[in-house]
Amino acid sequence: MGYSGFRVLLEGFRGQSGWKPVWRDPDPRDEYDVVIVGGGGHGLSTAYYLAKEHGITNVAVLERGYLGGGNVGRNTTIVRANYFLPGNSEFYSHSLKLWEGLEADLNYNVMHSQRGIINLFHSDGQRDAFVRRGNAMINQGDDAELLGPDRIREMLPYIDFSNPRFPVYGGLYHPRGGTARHDAVAWGYARGADTRGVDLIQNCEVTGIDIEGGRVRGVQTSRGPIRARKIALAAAGRSSQVAQMAGLKLPIESHILQAFVTEGLKPVIDHVVSFGMGHFYISQSDKGGLVFGGDLDFYSSYAQRGNLPMKEHVMEAAMTLMPVIGKARVLRSWGGIMDMSPDGSPIIDTTPVEGLFLNCGWCYGGFKAVPGSGFSYAHLIATGRHHEPAAGFRLERFNTGRGLMDEEGTGAQHNLH
Ligand SMILES: Cc1cc2nc3c(=O)[nH]c(=O)nc-3n(C[C@H](O)[C@H](O)[C@H](O)COP(=O)(O)OP(=O)(O)OC[C@H]3O[C@@H](n4cnc5c(N)ncnc54)[C@H](O)[C@@H]3O)c2cc1C
Repeated sequence: MGYSGFRVLLEGFRGQSGWKPVWRDPDPRDEYDVVIVGGGGHGLSTAYYLAKEHGITNVAVLERGYLGGGNVGRNTTIVRANYFLPGNSEFYSHSLKLWEGLEADLNYNVMHSQRGIINLFHSDGQRDAFVRRGNAMINQGDDAELLGPDRIREMLPYIDFSNPRFPVYGGLYHPRGGTARHDAVAWGYARGADTRGVDLIQNCEVTGIDIEGGRVRGVQTSRGPIRARKIALAAAGRSSQVAQMAGLKLPIESHILQAFVTEGLKPVIDHVVSFGMGHFYISQSDKGGLVFGGDLDFYSSYAQRGNLPMKEHVMEAAMTLMPVIGKARVLRSWGGIMDMSPDGSPIIDTTPVEGLFLNCGWCYGGFKAVPGSGFSYAHLIATGRHHEPAAGFRLERFNTGRGLMDEEGTGAQHNLH
């Protein structure tokens, strides 16, 4: 079903009775060329690009719950290409370019809004670091602008400029950064993949991976065994558990990240803003809610709900940056399970098991990566060769120490990235 302004008008006249489900609900077949484990953003975009770019359509996406019920529907929706290190920088640059054509490509409104991101800085040292980052972004072909305190006052009048402890020295502005409607991204990719013949199978948990002679043969699932020539893992926070089914021990820890949303307000925050002296970031959704988040809960967990001390920590940062937020009521908060890697950068790679592919370690940043990750992962699965922008995301770097991409400079401690 194609979408158009005319169609919306027509359905308005006939009581919205003509819309059809946007993807099928097939039973699993006995065998596929490719089985993708995980129906989140990365699994769905991989299926889409396998079909669209490589003509591989005998594909199933197996999802233990419902499509988009994982982190792809739980994040704070920030999309950006402001990474500093080679390896990350070209990958996120490629991903942002895909975002910019995504709605036309999918014929689906994912509400991609390039409202600009401003990372505030509060000391000379932070300014120097952001100048370097901005230069790296410009060298990569992306956009970056250094803003002084006067521009920040004009653009973000609601910030507390009188705080003597954290004076606002300026900000790094990334105009092409912004937000997108997270679950619409999952739905758009799901529809695009389904239309091209991919089977999207919900309520189908993978419980085992069959391996014979060092190569994959298929998966065991809650809906029976399925044979496959290739198996692509995209299970985000549960990557370690799924990889363990193939005897792999991943360098991944799972931690909870929480997000918060207030009641709907009139437009007040035009951009995405991050606080430089605490881990806090905020934007305003199209419905008017202020959407914000902060640090991870620092212990490993699969609980998918957050703890109270971290809520307090995030609220403190919010009140420090913009005390006006104290007038808004927080309506909801939730948690998602993050697959944290030791250097804070992801893995898209083959594995020692022939036919088994790995996509994980997206930490806080995997939503913006959804188009680029799916594109590069599909390329690797289809051709056996790494796609150039993602060529640095090798598993082996954690064995050799070569090619680590420690964007935060915090060392090999998963929860600090
Ligand atoms: C609160 C929060 C805020 C965030 N904010 C941002 C942000 O602003 N910007 C950004 O870029 N990133 C952000 N992220 C990170 C981003 O959401 C994730 O990195 C990304 O969504 C992970 O990839 P995914 O979409 O494929 O994951 P998911 O949507 O979690 O998909 C993985 C799927 O695998 C399924 N699965 C697991 N095990 C099995 C199994 N055995 N069998 C079958 N299926 C299985 C799960 O049910 C799940 O649906 C945030 C995350 C959270 C939690």
